[in-house]
Amino acid sequence: MHPLLGRTLVGGAAWVLAFAAACTQPAPAGESGPGAPTAVATAETTPASIATPAPRAAAVGPDFSGQAAYEHVKQLADVIGSRVAGSDEERKAADYIATQFRSYGYTAEQTPVDFEVADEAVAELEVSGAKRIPTNSLGFSASGSLSAPLVAVRGTGQPADFPASANGAVVLVQRGTLSFGDKVKNAANAGAKGIIVYNNEAGEFRGTLGTAGAIPTVGVSGDAGQELLTLAQQPGAQVRLKVETQSVQVKSRNVLAKASDTCSYIVGGHFDSVQAGPGANDNASGTAATMEAARVLWPLAKQANLCFMAFGAEELGLWGSRIHVRGLSAAERQALKAMVNLDMVGVGDRWRISGSEALVNQVGEVADSLGYKVSLAPSGRGAGGGSDHASFIQAGIPAVFFYRLEDPNYHLATDQAKFIDPTNLEPAGRMTVELIKRLAAAG
Ligand SMILES: [Zn+2]
Repeated sequence: MHPLLGRTLVGGAAWVLAFAAACTQPAPAGESGPGAPTAVATAETTPASIATPAPRAAAVGPDFSGQAAYEHVKQLADVIGSRVAGSDEERKAADYIATQFRSYGYTAEQTPVDFEVADEAVAELEVSGAKRIPTNSLGFSASGSLSAPLVAVRGTGQPADFPASANGAVVLVQRGTLSFGDKVKNAANAGAKGIIVYNNEAGEFRGTLGTAGAIPTVGVSGDAGQELLTLAQQPGAQVRLKVETQSVQVKSRNVLAKASDTCSYIVGGHFDSVQAGPGANDNASGTAATMEAARVLWPLAKQANLCFMAFGAEELGLWGSRIHVRGLSAAERQALKAMVNLDMVGVGDRWRISGSEALVNQVGEVADSLGYKVSLAPSGRGAGGGSDHASFIQAGIPAVFFYRLEDPNYHLATDQAKFIDPTNLEPAGRMTVELIKRLAAAG
């Protein structure tokens, strides 16, 4: 789940936001993404000395065991720790997870999740007379350096708000109502060469366009905004604007466990974490429940074409699941009937089940039959943002998302194994196992 972190351990801090993920605290109205830099680790090689910890003793009996799953949580969160995308720790965790899957009988491969992220951008803003204004670029801003007239825009950047003089100028637009991405789109459509978004309250802010913008885009504080508004009234007001972005290559991975050549059902969750903490609940809990479900479902796995996945780089924008889905052939998509996503299932006092309506309702029936209370929130009705299931749903593959609320340690150093309740892991696993059995039986 999305991040608010500081600089990376390795190389430049990153600035990433591809998806507003379920793992994200809700953003202000109209804006996408929480908007602060996320740490990523660049792709330094893992020193051979990093040994994969020995798998724990075989888990108990044929039924899903919360305690057995909890052992995996401790390995991922206590022994390995924070598992930032592309880091050695993420790689160690992938080795551990693959070894566990193999010990249950599956083949397990680590598939590459390579992508580029924009690194921290350098932004400069200077007004007539070489006065520097403190500023920062918005995420996914275009790079560029220009001097142009400064034109203030009424309202918040609706298409009609841009005067003819915006053409060829740097426009000054107030924050609010519209997403940053839409403001920039409208400004570029009005012919603006750059855009300054000023805060609609005191102080600076950070934000993202969500996707690549067409023109250099910076943000300034509310006070600086008022100053620029005054300046823009003066004839011949000019500004110099510069945004320089670099990108960083991230080399992450997914772990894919198979019992046959086909995947008709996938159970999975992301195993990376944010840098701030060891990600015990987000998301060693979902990864652990996935591994324990794989152990329990092995007898059924081959005939039902069951697959189990641990996704990398979810915190940076669902990269693991997006790249996996993007890589599926038409036949593989066709064969894949359902995906079950387990993300943050170890802390909290109530279940929220979201995703594809039919699957969500089936979980409702399963929960009833097992005596668990859940709230059903099929997608599209405030189902709580996205996680890796969103990548499948967007490709037309039915998916359901198990999520337990609320976690006070979300994305903090305190997201530790000691706060995970093994008995919470049991319902997540038992409902998943029962759902898969019913889906496989229905064929
Ligand atoms: Zn998560």
